Amino acid sequence: MSFKSMLKSCGFAVTVSAILGLSSLTVTGSALSAAAAPAKSAGATEENKPVRILFTNVNIFDGFSDRLAKGMSVLVEGNHIKEVGESIKAPDAYVVDGAGRTMTPGLIDMHQHVMLNPPEGTASYQTRWDGAAGGAFAQHHLVNNILLKGITTVRDIAGDPLDIAKAIDMGQLPGPRVYSSGGAISQTGGHGDWAGRNVPEDILHNHKDMSQATQNTWVVNGPDQVTEAVRMNLRRGAAFIKIMGGGGVASEFDPLEIMGLAKDEVARAVEIAADNGTYVATHAYHDDSYNRLLDLGVRSFEHGFLVTEPTVKRMAAKGQEVVWSFQCFMSVNTFGDYDAMPGFFTHEQKVKGVAVGKGARNAAKLMNKHNVFTIGGSDMFGIPFVERIKEDITCNVDAGYTPAQALKHWTGNAGIVLKWSGPKDPYPTYELGTIKKGAYADLLLWDGNPLDDIKLILDEEKLNFIMKDGLVFKNTMVEADHPYFRPARAPSTRGQYPL
Ligand SMILES: [Zn+2]
Repeated sequence: MSFKSMLKSCGFAVTVSAILGLSSLTVTGSALSAAAAPAKSAGATEENKPVRILFTNVNIFDGFSDRLAKGMSVLVEGNHIKEVGESIKAPDAYVVDGAGRTMTPGLIDMHQHVMLNPPEGTASYQTRWDGAAGGAFAQHHLVNNILLKGITTVRDIAGDPLDIAKAIDMGQLPGPRVYSSGGAISQTGGHGDWAGRNVPEDILHNHKDMSQATQNTWVVNGPDQVTEAVRMNLRRGAAFIKIMGGGGVASEFDPLEIMGLAKDEVARAVEIAADNGTYVATHAYHDDSYNRLLDLGVRSFEHGFLVTEPTVKRMAAKGQEVVWSFQCFMSVNTFGDYDAMPGFFTHEQKVKGVAVGKGARNAAKLMNKHNVFTIGGSDMFGIPFVERIKEDITCNVDAGYTPAQALKHWTGNAGIVLKWSGPKDPYPTYELGTIKKGAYADLLLWDGNPLDDIKLILDEEKLNFIMKDGLVFKNTMVEADHPYFRPARAPSTRGQYPL
């Protein structure tokens, strides 16, 4: 643990102890320990020992392998995995018999827009809602449509839920882990310029329109304004940087074919991100923008549904230096069909969407053929899409990937990319997206094997158990009155939400 994260953890422990009125709580301790032990005097040895939970008889998908490791045990200590093996001796641990269920890592949505969940999409903040309402929508969806459906981490890739993330990490609110880019960075008239057409220049460029005032987006011109936006995001706790590298579907001014930030603007974003040990992700669709951004050192490539084979080969040659982030459902399903697109899209936006939908299947085929390093991110926000996020995973299978690949995009590969945040990683101590010694205890138990039938992940009845950071948020399999496995509705414990 670094000195900095130690400081962070210490501060956190003090805060939580104070809130719960407990005399002591270990840094890695969970709500389970808080619930299990009555408050004793400070320094009692029993209390300082982190809770140990031994899962037996589980079949593990480790985030990478294309088959399950059968009949395994997993020992969780506090908030991380201590050991994985065929037989583990831990006499002091509370034992949970998995009864042959499948254990997977918590799912990771690598393309989410937490703050863009008001009903009207990106225009919401101009027309109807303030930042407080945006936060309320966000929190509702983070719990009910994300965490409680087994998505234990989101990479938030335009928007600023950084203080919501802070409250979650402090145990003040329930929710998934959040890696946020902070506000997306766009040129005037680009994909992140969500102000109305007649907003005066002074208001737009002094960050006074509502989208920028809520810090969900930045409208910039020139490298110096990029510097300011990148540094402000990082100052607020962003884990990486999102730029708009090309036109889009859901924006008013920018046709799909255009380029986004200019070369010197992209270069500056990459430079400042690299100076801070982190990386740049980009919105882009076609060969010209992908190639420009590859030249300039961008690492995470979203969308890309209009790219051709030479560009795909170029990405493949870079191995795990760059990643393709696949938004399957919104492109293959939604954007494939003019009539299925959201009602708030204009005719022009729907026409762009149809072009994207056509390209998406082709891009997935090419990326898969050349074995490009790939992650999955839903880009599904706003009702009704946010309620169907896991259909983005099953969509991967419809687009030609195996169930194991689809899950790998949402677990193992995602965990690798999250660690690209380096010193800006908000969860720096352990690994994510995998089940192995030294990973965070973000675990799911399924009744059935999703590698045989990926569609079972859509059946909430089959998801029996959700653990995030060693805390239990859903539990339909262990006696509910046992103190280690109080159901998620138990009151007054950190991370446990009154449903
Ligand atoms: Zn997006």
